[in-house]
Amino acid sequence: MNRAEMLERALAHQEPWDIVVIGGGATGVGVALDAAARGYDVLLLEQSDFGKGTSSRSTKLVHGGVRYLEQGNVSLVMEALKERGLLRQNAPHLVGDLAFVVPSYEWWEAPFYGVGLKVYNLLSGRYGFGTSEILTKEETLARLPTIRTEGLRGGVVYYDGQFDDTRLLVNMATTAAEQGAALLNYAPVTALTRDAHGFVNGVVASDLEGGREIRAAARVVINAGGPFCDAVRRLADPGLPPLVAPSQGIHLVFAGSVLPGGAAIMVPHTSDGRVMFAIPWHGHTVVGTTDTPIEEASLEPRPFDDEIEFETASRYLRRPLTRADVLSVFVGIRPLVRSGDAKSTAALSRDHLIHIDPTGLITVTGGKWTTWRSMAEHCVNTAAMLEHLPEKPCPTRNLNIHGFHRHAARFGPLAVYGSDALHIQDLIHGDPALGAPLHPALPTCGAEVVWAARFEMARTVEDALARRTRALFLNARAAIEMAPAVATLLARELGRDEAWRDAQVDAFRELAAGYLVA
Ligand SMILES: Cc1cc2nc3c(=O)[nH]c(=O)nc-3n(C[C@H](O)[C@H](O)[C@H](O)COP(=O)(O)OP(=O)(O)OC[C@H]3O[C@@H](n4cnc5c(N)ncnc54)[C@H](O)[C@@H]3O)c2cc1C
Repeated sequence: MNRAEMLERALAHQEPWDIVVIGGGATGVGVALDAAARGYDVLLLEQSDFGKGTSSRSTKLVHGGVRYLEQGNVSLVMEALKERGLLRQNAPHLVGDLAFVVPSYEWWEAPFYGVGLKVYNLLSGRYGFGTSEILTKEETLARLPTIRTEGLRGGVVYYDGQFDDTRLLVNMATTAAEQGAALLNYAPVTALTRDAHGFVNGVVASDLEGGREIRAAARVVINAGGPFCDAVRRLADPGLPPLVAPSQGIHLVFAGSVLPGGAAIMVPHTSDGRVMFAIPWHGHTVVGTTDTPIEEASLEPRPFDDEIEFETASRYLRRPLTRADVLSVFVGIRPLVRSGDAKSTAALSRDHLIHIDPTGLITVTGGKWTTWRSMAEHCVNTAAMLEHLPEKPCPTRNLNIHGFHRHAARFGPLAVYGSDALHIQDLIHGDPALGAPLHPALPTCGAEVVWAARFEMARTVEDALARRTRALFLNARAAIEMAPAVATLLARELGRDEAWRDAQVDAFRELAAGYLVA
């Protein structure tokens, strides 16, 4: 993917696009990928970087959602379990199986959760990831060596999927581009144009790098603005009532030594009614998440003080966690579909919504990362029907995602790149200095930054350290220390001067400070 070429295509396109998508998160990129793979002419515009919103800030689970089963939403769970299986089939370099242990300290817990998790297994049918089992105390300790032993009776193990959200997003964007879509980051949509009957027939956006205006006529405009989708809808009609109730969730990241057994901990009921996960991810441990209603979405949400708590996780660990152990904290905003009678955002549905405003603007929101493919299929079907686009079947059930590789683990720290790892290794062969880690605490190397700038449309230090590699999410202090080297590499790749380099380092330091826990 090359931004200059994408911009040129957006500016030069004279005819109306079949579909213009607003928003470059999982939902928007999924829609662009689906539509392009069917053969529609598609443009996607993202106001910041791909994945800057919620889609970089998930718990990294490809899952059916054990909790929704408890809420009785069997159809949502079954759909998500099927999508979980399709995603592992189509992107095996990024989606892996993970064992989750529900530890039990009360006599009734293991049989109780054991039955629920058996049902979870059964619902996955032929897309199953492994059979759940009741564990003895010794078996539980073998999988979770650091767990609190006092009162421990045993546990239940079940299997779900885990992924790297923005690596998948970038690979989905590349797949969409390979299928013919044009995708542009740093291009906010600032207005929607309307025809004589008041129907939305295009968008106006700006190129944040060159300052040029982009006018794109469209047969259909799809709003995939996530937590910002109501602001996009109000570009066409300022008086519209909101569809989305934003709720934020935080994750705390610790060293890998917190969970050395390779299995995750799942706590089905925290004292305030949440599910808590502690999961091993890229050699670290991610603990989350909260569910706090907020008034307004922002692109860089911050944790509230009372969300940074260690008691829940510490209750299950022999050595309690402290603020000093936190390597990074990241926050995401759920675009939950509003419901008049819900008592809390935790009780709001995780189903997706496809909504058509009287202006003909289609909004697709809600759902989960896991279900991006079925959301996109549903949305493109709706768009085609609404605008009488020629009927074309959806091919994404069996469409490999860019980087597809069945044995990517052989590429070690480059495994998340799948087949692209070979090209990154070539860069290192050409210049061995690019193979050295940029920081002793993380395996990220210079070749990944060069690759991101050349082929993945990374434009800033933040793009490289937050979303092309995951350094900022894993260890914010290390990421800050890496920033000057990354800025130098990017300046060279993007033809920028010293002043740009210095400004990038300053901007990244300021942003990354928000990922540190004081
Ligand atoms: C804390 C948390 C944990 C989660 N964990 C999981 C999980 O483990 N597994 C799972 O399956 N799901 C999970 N989810 C849900 C999942 O992350 C979201 O459903 C998904 O990422 C939403 O994607 P989206 O594309 O709709 O929104 P976003 O990713 O927010 O994308 C919307 C995009 O639209 C852009 N945009 C907005 N306005 C404009 C404009 N005017 N012009 C151009 N662009 C614009 C924004 O910049 C943004 O990038 C989690 C969510 C949260 C909050």
